[in-house]
Amino acid sequence: MSDILLDVKDLVIHYETDDGLVQALNGVSLQIHTGKTLGLVGETGAGKTTLAKGIMQLVPNPPGKIKGGEVFYDGEDLLKKSVQEMRKVRGKQISMIFQDPMTSLNPVMTVRDQIMEVILQHNKLSKEEAVKKADEMLELVGIPAARGREYPHQFSGGMKQRVIIAIALACQPRLLIADEPTTALDVTIQAQVLDLIQNLKKRDNTSMLLITHDLGVVAQTCDYVAIMYAGEIVEYGTLREVYKDIRHPYTKGLMASIPNLVEQVERLQAIDGLMPDPTNLAKGCKFADRCKYATAACMEKVPEMKSVGGEHMVRCILPEATEVKEH
Ligand code: SF4
Repeated sequence: MSDILLDVKDLVIHYETDDGLVQALNGVSLQIHTGKTLGLVGETGAGKTTLAKGIMQLVPNPPGKIKGGEVFYDGEDLLKKSVQEMRKVRGKQISMIFQDPMTSLNPVMTVRDQIMEVILQHNKLSKEEAVKKADEMLELVGIPAARGREYPHQFSGGMKQRVIIAIALACQPRLLIADEPTTALDVTIQAQVLDLIQNLKKRDNTSMLLITHDLGVVAQTCDYVAIMYAGEIVEYGTLREVYKDIRHPYTKGLMASIPNLVEQVERLQAIDGLMPDPTNLAKGCKFADRCKYATAACMEKVPEMKSVGGEHMVRCILPEATEVKEH
């Protein structure tokens, strides 16, 4: 039996805007294995959140449109499901934690009622049973059950994010999509929230797509990593494969731009230039404008993803980037 829970194939999502056609996702393929965490890394505007919304079928249409591809969850293409069928998938099978807890909670409902709402939507339980389950979830995320009667404004940012986690995991989903779940929190709380997600994930063997721009968070929490640039995956593999043997010039640039506790460097390297305008993408490699190795051949067509050994794949035409080695 395959251990692949989510298999995204060649997903293309565009937005029709007044400024032109935004090519947000341009043929993204990736897989998430049961019980494993895939870290999706990229700069703001790379298409990470669009991918998450595409998986959940939450791309607003208009202006968004899924132009092609497939999203197999447990062997079934989510893109072929009806609105009603997707309602049953969201929350129960796949849950999402958004970046900003302030906007994810309903300010006029108590936190217990918000947890109960999702429990009752997906389970045939009495109100008393749902209260009990909601209280259990609160305790599980480190909030005394008695505080369930309170409203979101009575909680700190970190506590609100714990409530969001309780809601997301209340129905024991098989896949959790966490979109920058700690970005809005201060550093010490970030670590606590990440630990909490990790522990709960282990308890239920939940798979996770963790969207982040923080390579340090990926190193601590992920089994696999996908690097995204201008709506494409440019490097993918197990954490070990990618971190031990970085191939794509963009991934190298990202790694050089973060502080390293082991190696002393005089100055961190920023990647020159900006991500291309998604309404005006080049026909070749999207990174060519910023790549010091770019040649005329890079501008001709989009490089294909090539296997470089094991599960490690890279989208670049440089021979040294694509030569196959044993991992
Ligand atoms: Fe750089 Fe060319 Fe590789 Fe793109 S294909 S990353 S431009 S070397």
